[in-house]
Amino acid sequence: RVSDGTVRIAVIGLGWWTVDQAIPAIDASELCETTVAVSSSSEKAKRVAAGVETATHGLSYDEFHAGEAADAYDAVYICSPNALHLPYARTAAELGKAVLCEKPIEASSERGQKMVDACDEAGVPLIVGYRMHTEPAIRRARKLIRDGVIGDPVHAIGTNSQAMLELSSDPNQWRLDPELAGPGATVTDIGIYPLNTCRFLLDSDPVAAQAFMQSAHDAFEQVPDEHTSFMVEFDDGTYLAATASQNAQATTSLRVVGTNGEILVEPAYHMETEIRVTRDDVSVTLDTPQVNQMTELFDYAADRILTDAPIGPDGEHGVLDMRLIEAVYEAGESGRVVTL
Ligand code: NDP
Repeated sequence: RVSDGTVRIAVIGLGWWTVDQAIPAIDASELCETTVAVSSSSEKAKRVAAGVETATHGLSYDEFHAGEAADAYDAVYICSPNALHLPYARTAAELGKAVLCEKPIEASSERGQKMVDACDEAGVPLIVGYRMHTEPAIRRARKLIRDGVIGDPVHAIGTNSQAMLELSSDPNQWRLDPELAGPGATVTDIGIYPLNTCRFLLDSDPVAAQAFMQSAHDAFEQVPDEHTSFMVEFDDGTYLAATASQNAQATTSLRVVGTNGEILVEPAYHMETEIRVTRDDVSVTLDTPQVNQMTELFDYAADRILTDAPIGPDGEHGVLDMRLIEAVYEAGESGRVVTL
């Protein structure tokens, strides 16, 4: 599957995250290189490919689905709107290519499961791009929690907000369209960070959710969650209380509180991560390197593809997140606790 120890990647969907973050991160990676760019038009794909030293092909989506230039890549990186992850993953699996897919896995748990099934049937690895799993500070915090540094974890408080309309004022942007984004604009897109990072730090799975949500601004009229607050119960008895908004001051944090101390991650998710540990009234900020989080992710994915080692954020992990996210929306709509 892989030639000479380097994983050659076809990047699919040439939006801002692929062009500004993923391609430079792959460039900086020791284990992978971008060889193919895939886009809505072959002109755009060829233009982007021409700017990448290692790239040899630019393809349209149709050309990709037809299997063109399949010899030029070993894996795909899918970075399209959420509801379009599945078709690219299916084609990649049929072509025998490994799949690295951006979060969330898809726009619903059902579609995510179809992606898992397609990759399983084809025998190709599926990795969901949760870059907090490969962030060294977060991994260190996870180990400290596992080693009992804060005692027994009791609860967590997390938040993730941004001013989405300042990032893009386009009223037709896909994040505001449930057909492309999934059940909402906020929990699916950014609420997933406190939710999944907490899940990773505690090494626990969610069992129930409760939520409040509202949309007031005209731009959010098709989605229920311009602003949201949700609670999650985990299978170890711990709770997460989280807030997220796509129309607020950018702020990111996660505080995990235990019987003897706490770990505060702040800033948390916007490509900068710092950890402060408090135990017995003494606080220290961990001296962890600031890394390119996307390069760490690509290195991790390439390592898993090259070695067949077990994948942390695999497809099943991504599907469980989508089931929880669906429970959060159902709880927000019904006002009831929803169990998974
Ligand atoms: P953008 O809107 O910037 O880009 C999405 C790209 O997908 C478009 O530029 C387009 O590329 C392609 N596309 C294909 N079909 C459509 C369609 N019907 N409507 C719109 N675009 C289409 O989105 P992002 O890059 O911000 O997000 C893409 C994915 O990456 C999402 O799943 C998102 O959750 C995830 N993401 C993850 C981040 C992280 O921190 N891990 C950060 C940002 C996003 P083209 O013109 O080449 O066809």
